[in-house]
Amino acid sequence: MRPIQAQISIDAMAHNLRVARALAADARVFAVVKANAYGHGLSRARRAFAAADGFAVLTLEEAANLRQMGVDQPILLLEGLFGADEIAACVELDLWPVLHHAAHLDWLAQQPPARPLQVFLKFDTGMHRLGLPLAEQAALVARTRSLPGVAGVTLMTHFAQADEAVGVDWQLQPFLRELAGYGLPWSSANSAALLRFPETRGDWVRPGLMLYGASPFPEVSAAELGLRPAMTLQSEIIAVQALQAGEGVGYGQLFRAERAMRVGVVACGYADGYPRHALTGTPVLVDGRIGRTLGRVSMDMLCVDLGDFPEAGLGTPVTLWGEGLPVDAVAAAAGTTSYELLCALAARVPVAERD
Ligand SMILES: *Cc1c(COP(=O)(O)O)cnc(C)c1O
Repeated sequence: MRPIQAQISIDAMAHNLRVARALAADARVFAVVKANAYGHGLSRARRAFAAADGFAVLTLEEAANLRQMGVDQPILLLEGLFGADEIAACVELDLWPVLHHAAHLDWLAQQPPARPLQVFLKFDTGMHRLGLPLAEQAALVARTRSLPGVAGVTLMTHFAQADEAVGVDWQLQPFLRELAGYGLPWSSANSAALLRFPETRGDWVRPGLMLYGASPFPEVSAAELGLRPAMTLQSEIIAVQALQAGEGVGYGQLFRAERAMRVGVVACGYADGYPRHALTGTPVLVDGRIGRTLGRVSMDMLCVDLGDFPEAGLGTPVTLWGEGLPVDAVAAAAGTTSYELLCALAARVPVAERD
């Protein structure tokens, strides 16, 4: 069998939820499990996050799967309704849609649900992606509250720079100022905001990334935040090459040996979800010690420098990220984020659970 495997720790995920829960204080916690729980599997996420107050997903299909698995906590649809035809499913599955567009209010008015729904009314405070204009809040809140199909309203926004030095104040202050008067519950915090800005907690927090043991901040490691990596991507060396000085390795021969050296070929490539943009020098663990990749990542293989690993050979374990090597470090070397690497774990990689 091809030796690549992703090991996923339910314990680590449950631990990370406890970290989020402690930071949330009195706020309730939605475990954000979109994108197949950031690559970790929806069913694993349900078990690991059984203690969450709710789950947040993108699609009806994910929500229906969670209900089928026995989830009885609230389920938030983060992008709301993709059509008026989804209102009936919200009733049937008891889902809470985000309303981020005036059309959603029209749909609810024209096709009132058989039972009134809890809704999250999302305002745009500067992200300029999804959300209703904050300037029109008075009319929008009044209209939403007057709809017979609406049982309760929670106000919501999303931060564009909670992970950066500029922070959240430029969005949070207008949000609170404009909406405080209604006395409605509210929700704003993603992982970065929850970790760094306690004033964003409100009534519901929405951590995603941190639950999987990665850091939203370039300059702070997940370990420093008290988080444990949930996914470890592992493989083995399946061939060893002896290069002479001047010889190159892989497509484009991007890496050339300056002197005679040994190169290990690892069974992991971009078709497994490893980033093709990872250049020579991206960190890997060879037999538990830090090493580096060489040359261009190909579809099914990548190469590692065995210069410091004279004992390494066929079958030597290689960790691509996870336990002992933060996914954030690999993401940084590849010019991307841990979000992208975790979500991109390919379906062909076998997954095993571990403690
Ligand atoms: C994905 C998402 C989150 C979670 O964000 P993280 O940065 O992963 O914590 C929170 N809120 C919304 C609206 C989202 O789409």
